[in-house]
Amino acid sequence: MTAHTLDELLAEGVRGRHVLVRSDLNVPLDGSTVTDDGRVRASLPVIAKLAEAGARVIVMAHLGRPKGTPDEKYSLRPAVERLAELAAFPVRLAADVVGPSAKELAASLADGEALVLENVRFDARETSKDDAERAAFARELAELTGDGGAYVDDAFGAAHRKHASVYDIASILPAYLGELVRTEVEVLKRLTEGAERPYVVVLGGSKVSDKLAVIDNLIGKADRLLVGGGMLFTFLAAQGHKVGSSLLERDQIGTVQSYLERAAVAGTEFVLPTDVVVASKFAADAEHEVASADAIEGTASGETGIGLDIGPETAAAFAKEIATARTVFWNGPMGVFEFPAFAAGTKAVAQALADATSAGALTVVGGGDSAAAVRTLGFEDGQFGHISTGGGASLEYLEGKELPGLTALGA
Ligand code: ADP
Ligand code: MG
Repeated sequence: MTAHTLDELLAEGVRGRHVLVRSDLNVPLDGSTVTDDGRVRASLPVIAKLAEAGARVIVMAHLGRPKGTPDEKYSLRPAVERLAELAAFPVRLAADVVGPSAKELAASLADGEALVLENVRFDARETSKDDAERAAFARELAELTGDGGAYVDDAFGAAHRKHASVYDIASILPAYLGELVRTEVEVLKRLTEGAERPYVVVLGGSKVSDKLAVIDNLIGKADRLLVGGGMLFTFLAAQGHKVGSSLLERDQIGTVQSYLERAAVAGTEFVLPTDVVVASKFAADAEHEVASADAIEGTASGETGIGLDIGPETAAAFAKEIATARTVFWNGPMGVFEFPAFAAGTKAVAQALADATSAGALTVVGGGDSAAAVRTLGFEDGQFGHISTGGGASLEYLEGKELPGLTALGA
């Protein structure tokens, strides 16, 4: 890695300088309550190091997908309140991104204080496809730093985006790589370059088409691919089974069939569910029963039944595979873990990873909802080798794609 690092910046000296830090504060919210503060806690060390060294820290971050205009629902306030609780130094939130409030608060920052700008996606230029628009926004962000400004990228979760606060800003201010990004990249490297075998990958969640590309790339690299979550139904359909009203990406069935064929030749084994928990409707209190994977429509709810979790036989089989692994990467919950009745599969896989960690395997959990799942199910971060803050970013890294946020820094 040839990129400049945070340590180099600290060695240069930051006292009295404005340092723009891109952090990942994209936390899950229930109304205005942060339901998992993992990303806030992961972002704190770099901000704190800079503040303790006397920098005037300006944090840029996004939350959710607002439509390029201010929207209270996507305010960073809950995340910033959590950050302020955890921080030993003053943390304030600007009322805008690069407007009068941000300018005034940035100018009045004292050494060792931090200011968080409002959600950078409240400005449509942040995500614009137009290079000139993004560059103009990046310049306005950079201007908040006055003379001697610097930029630190610590937002691994946004590294796969060619956005102003991640990509363009790095060519305007002297740019440095934060420690969180460095750690993430180091761990992911161990999954792509010579992972210790057996290498087992567990995939689930709801964004099927997003995750197909990573499957494509893992065929031939991973020893076994375990498929659960919403995507399992596209696999069952590819095997010729009926899936009732379960999540199904009909237009991907052919793609999945070709993966199954390629995997057989490449020496990667797909481990698909043999049983699923079928519910009468998508609800926490839905009636449900365990059905064989080939008999989903044979349940009481028939064609309208929805598969909301892997079944106990599958969970046990997955746990057994994970127990034999030396390297495990897991992305995507096995079921709708938000409803306790459908959390058993996710819990079993989390427990299997925790056990594998104790047995000396490298275990990595990636994905915002997956990270939230293990924490809400009562696991500690330390039970896993690494919990990645980046969902999409870690997947794209594993797909072998270049991440603009890293390229911009020469990482
Ligand atoms: P991550 O953020 O970890 O990458 P995703 O965003 O892809 O994961 O998916 C997480 C979501 O997938 C969870 O909210 C969970 O409820 C949902 N999910 C898991 N299994 C199913 C299923 N069988 N049907 C519908 N949704 C599911
Ligand atoms: Mg998600």
